Amino acid sequence: MSKTSIPITSVIIGPEEEAAVLRVLRSGQLAQGPVVAELEREFASLCGAPHAVAVSNGTVALVAALRALKLGPGDEVITTPFSFVATLNAVLESGATVRFADVTDDFTIDPASVAALVNERTRALLPVHLYGLPADMPALMEIAGRAGAVVVEDAAQAHGARVGDRAVGSFGVGCFSLYATKNVQCGEGGLVTTADGELADRLRLLRNQGMRARYQYELPGHNWRLTDLQAAIVLPQLRRLNETVERRAANAARLTEGLAGLPGVRTPEVPAGRTHVWHQYTIRVTPQAGLSRDDLAKRLDQAGIGYGLYYPRLMYDYDCYRGHPQISKDPTPRAAAVVSEVLSLPVHQHLTDGELDRIVTSIRQAFDA
Ligand SMILES: *Cc1c(COP(=O)(O)O)cnc(C)c1O
Repeated sequence: MSKTSIPITSVIIGPEEEAAVLRVLRSGQLAQGPVVAELEREFASLCGAPHAVAVSNGTVALVAALRALKLGPGDEVITTPFSFVATLNAVLESGATVRFADVTDDFTIDPASVAALVNERTRALLPVHLYGLPADMPALMEIAGRAGAVVVEDAAQAHGARVGDRAVGSFGVGCFSLYATKNVQCGEGGLVTTADGELADRLRLLRNQGMRARYQYELPGHNWRLTDLQAAIVLPQLRRLNETVERRAANAARLTEGLAGLPGVRTPEVPAGRTHVWHQYTIRVTPQAGLSRDDLAKRLDQAGIGYGLYYPRLMYDYDCYRGHPQISKDPTPRAAAVVSEVLSLPVHQHLTDGELDRIVTSIRQAFDA
């Protein structure tokens, strides 16, 4: 058996990206320009959203969305505690208070738990399409509608994911990341999608020092711009996105088939009507399994198989957030249980069938099955 390691992510920048970047370099316009505008048009179309605004990264996409929506102190945002910390940091930066709803067995926010937290201070729901699986958007949109709250989707991991025939980023205000490890990436980058033309206008102003025409400032803004160099790397990947997701989905299906029947091991669930884009393929090693999650991780290390623990703790479970005045720590028992059970396996589009088989065989051997 080959001992070469199988990485959890693999970034391959192809000749199309190289050519596109070279064109930008030779154009002499490296900062935000026509290529960013083209990316915004194509991304909006991918999401079925009227507007897309490119920004410097996914965290900024969230910060800019909350700022454009004018969230602030006294407002409450309901989100999941089981996400990357950027979700939390963005809300804290807005000045609003964070409330945590629990998750369901598919790892996304539980609408029933959200509904129980809604009150007159609720200004926004912030679901996360974790691992590339859309949250239950129809239920969440209904709750938000009744509460008079806006919906901000953390779609950093979910480019092209759908509920029915609607893409994520078309329900509420969509916040996407183009960070190096995401399904679509340019090192650092982000996008905000919205159906609201006024909001898109405010986002464009905020991103560029609040400036409408040269030296005409309409509000205090920032420099949150993306560059044409980065946009050039993204465009060819967008055009290949269907193919990328198909490969990832086929890899996920092969893993699920291979890992079937292992006692105490739960393969990822995809609720009916939702299209997963498999940013991560995440299993749960429950207490009923013959091996702990951490022991399985050790065995994968020995076998040279990359894995990830996304995320090893709930977002707020760090000293720097304890007692934070903007964090309301509502009990989330299911989220608290899954953090010690999750383990993500390689599912990226560059895996070979042989590598997928090696992943399955190594795990089955670890469980003696
Ligand atoms: C990556 C990520 C972000 C932040 O995006 P950056 O581009 O790294 O700033 C936010 N939320 C989630 C769920 C993410 O995975």
